[in-house]
Amino acid sequence: MKNKVITITSFLIILFAFVALPKDVSAVTLKQYEEDVNKYVNELKEKESKLAKSKEEVEQVKKNIATIESQITETTNNIKTLEDEIDKSNKEIDNKKEQSKKIIKYYQIMNEGESYIEYIFGATSITDMIYRMSVVEQLTDYNQKVVKELTDLINKNKAKKEELAKKQEELSKLKKNLQSEKERIEQNILSIEGTIPNTKDSIKASQSKVDYYKAKGCKSNDVIGIDCAVVPKVSGSSSSLPPGVTVGPNGFRLPIVGGRISQGYGGGHKGVDFSFWGRCGEPIYAVAAGTVYYVGSGKDNYGAKMVLIVHNVNGRLVFSQYAHLQGYNVSEGQNVDVNTVIGYMGSTGYSSGCHLHLEMSNDYGWDYNASYNTYIKHIVSPFTYIQL
Ligand SMILES: [Zn+2]
Repeated sequence: MKNKVITITSFLIILFAFVALPKDVSAVTLKQYEEDVNKYVNELKEKESKLAKSKEEVEQVKKNIATIESQITETTNNIKTLEDEIDKSNKEIDNKKEQSKKIIKYYQIMNEGESYIEYIFGATSITDMIYRMSVVEQLTDYNQKVVKELTDLINKNKAKKEELAKKQEELSKLKKNLQSEKERIEQNILSIEGTIPNTKDSIKASQSKVDYYKAKGCKSNDVIGIDCAVVPKVSGSSSSLPPGVTVGPNGFRLPIVGGRISQGYGGGHKGVDFSFWGRCGEPIYAVAAGTVYYVGSGKDNYGAKMVLIVHNVNGRLVFSQYAHLQGYNVSEGQNVDVNTVIGYMGSTGYSSGCHLHLEMSNDYGWDYNASYNTYIKHIVSPFTYIQL
């Protein structure tokens, strides 16, 4: 049983190795760069259409806000009209009440003595007086009726006003929601706009790679460095070496003659440091035959001057990186061998003294990988290759 488990485990390990390894060692084809270009172009198109859509949305929301605002103004005016009407009714009620009071007063005075009746109503006979008395009654009845109607009207208007106030509140809420919706879309527009320059840069970078390798005669399915833009193969035999220089059977050597290792590989240190006890300007050699892939100071975040060389180890692309250089002695695209001085020891970038930081990776160079994380995964100890 135990044996069976081990067998299955071994089988899985072997299977994994077969599945994972070819994928891992497959280098970059021109097609991948072409696909990168397409990917970024599509990304840009998508962003631009999203942007256009969001801008349309904002315009629509703005229109809706304007509509709501005019509805709010209309409602405010309607409320004002109702208030005016209520005021008017109240005043009329006061008038009518005042009038009734006067009439009743006259009526009372009238009952107290005839002399007053005559005085007030100017009646010339009893018939005339009775007629005038009935008029008084009719008038007070009429006024009471009017007051009742006005009160009803006031109540109706108050109810309407309350309804409008509720509507007003709902409209304000709606306006507030639309405004935050507008802000959200505007924020979205800003963030899309912010990423567009990056996408444009990515298109330019991938396109320039495509152009570069096409100019070197690469076809879509060619593996760069192997099928085209061929990197010279690293071979164990090397002609005329200076005294004291050893090249291992696999064709790799140390990058300096003499000096010492000042810091080893590992524990967060991604390479091996070589130094001459702080002395600057010592020549640095390519660790093996290859093609200079990059010369410059834009590849790390610290501005170190560096050279990147790609080596063809039996069809597998291996990269060596030389950092903190004082100066360069090679240019991009140049073929080098173990006798080539690629530059001179310095302390450029993130460095506290003159030394060389040598870093090596399998299959992915700093520029071949999509992200720094991918690149880091491919870093190996330089002594994986430098075996003397
Ligand atoms: Zn280092």
